[in-house]
Amino acid sequence: MSEVLSWVSEELNHLKQAGLYNTIRTIGSPQGAWLQVDGRRVLNFCSNNYLGLANHPRLKDAARHAMDTHGMGPAAVRSIAGTMDLHVELDKRMAAFKGVEAAVTFQSGFAANLGVIPALVGKEDVIFSDELNHASIIDGSRLSGATIVRYAHCDPVSLDKVISAERGKYRRALVVTDGVFSMDGDVALLPEIYEQARKGKALLMVDDAHGEGVLGKGGRGIVDHFGLHGKVDVEVGTFSKAFGVVGGVAAGDGKIVEWLRQRGRPFLFSSAMTVPDVAACLAAIDLLEESTELVEGLWSNTEFFKGEMKKLGFDTGRSVTPITPVMLGEAKLAQDFSRALFEAGVFAMAIAFPTVARDKARIRVMISAAHSTDDLEQGLHAFQEVGKKLGVIH
Ligand SMILES: *Cc1c(COP(=O)(O)O)cnc(C)c1O
Repeated sequence: MSEVLSWVSEELNHLKQAGLYNTIRTIGSPQGAWLQVDGRRVLNFCSNNYLGLANHPRLKDAARHAMDTHGMGPAAVRSIAGTMDLHVELDKRMAAFKGVEAAVTFQSGFAANLGVIPALVGKEDVIFSDELNHASIIDGSRLSGATIVRYAHCDPVSLDKVISAERGKYRRALVVTDGVFSMDGDVALLPEIYEQARKGKALLMVDDAHGEGVLGKGGRGIVDHFGLHGKVDVEVGTFSKAFGVVGGVAAGDGKIVEWLRQRGRPFLFSSAMTVPDVAACLAAIDLLEESTELVEGLWSNTEFFKGEMKKLGFDTGRSVTPITPVMLGEAKLAQDFSRALFEAGVFAMAIAFPTVARDKARIRVMISAAHSTDDLEQGLHAFQEVGKKLGVIH
C-alpha cells in the first residue's frame, strides 16, 4: 500500500483494538425468521423485516409480473424519462395509505432525507434537530447549508428553549425528528413537537422509517398513531424496513411534494426505483390495506419477547416498539455477547460507537411477525445462557 494510504491501515487497526470494527456477515438465504449466515442456519434477530414481507410470495409474484410487462430498470431519472406508470401508482398509493395530499418516491429513505431537507431550507434558515436523529437526517441537514441547532432527545421543553433563543435570527425554520428512534426504539413526542413547531412558525418533518408498517392503524405510521393527520408538513419513509423491499418516500402537503419533484436532487439526478422494487412495494401496500393481522402479530411477538427479557433481568432501555435494545455498556462486552449468541445459533448484532454513545453499546434485537413463539423461546433461552456466562444477569 502506498505511503499516502498508510493512515487507512492505522485507522482500521485502531477500530479493531477498540472493538469497534464491523464484521460484516454474509447472508445466503432469503430474509425470514431463520437465515443462512456465513454458512450456518441461525435465528434472525437482526433484520428490519418487521412483517416478514421481504420474502413474501405476493411481493415476489408482483415483481415477476412487472418485470414481464415493464422490464427491469427505469433507465433514467424520474424527471427525464424514468417515471413509469408504476411509479405514479406507487406515489398515489402511498399518499392514500398515509392519508396525506401527495407523496413522491425516492431510491431509499437515505436519499429521501438528502432530497427533502435541502429542498426546504438553505443558508438563511435554521433546522431544529433531535440530538439522536438518524445519520441521513444529519447529512441532509448538512447538505442544506442551514444552521443546525440540536435539542435534547425527545424533549419538547428543550425544543421550546432553542426555538425561543434562535428562531428570530433566521428566515425559515424546520423542526425534524425521527418518529421511532432506530437504536433505542423510543418514539418522538410528536403532538408536543407539533405545538412547538407551530408556535415557532417552523415546518415540521418526521422520518417514519421504523414507524411505517409498525405504528398506527394497520401500520400507517406515527402520524396516524398520534392522530396528527394534516399537521405534519412532510413525512419521510422507507420501503426497506416493514415493506420488505427498498426505496424511500416523502409524503405530506401537496405543494411540498410538487416542490420536491422540482427541487429534490435525488429525484432529479439519480435514476428512479427499479420496476420489480416498485411492483413489490405496491403488493406490500395491498397486503397492509387488506388486513392488520401481520401488524398485530408483530406487536404480540414484541410484547412477549420484551416481557420475558425483563423477567430474565435484562435492561431493554426505553424501547416502546419492536426494536429491543439489550443494554450492555462496553463495546467489547456487546461484541463478545453477540459472538456467543451466534455460537448458540442466534444472529443478533452488537451496536456500538459511533452508532450509539461510547458507553451505551448494546445488542439490538429486531422482532418480526415472522417469528413463531418457538423461535422467540429459543432466542430467549440463548440470551439467558449467554447472559449468565458473561455475568450480565444472574
Ligand atoms: C433506516 C433509516 C433510514 C434509511 O432508509 P433506507 O431506505 O434504508 O435508506 C432513514 N431514516 C431512518 C430513521 C432510518 O431508520
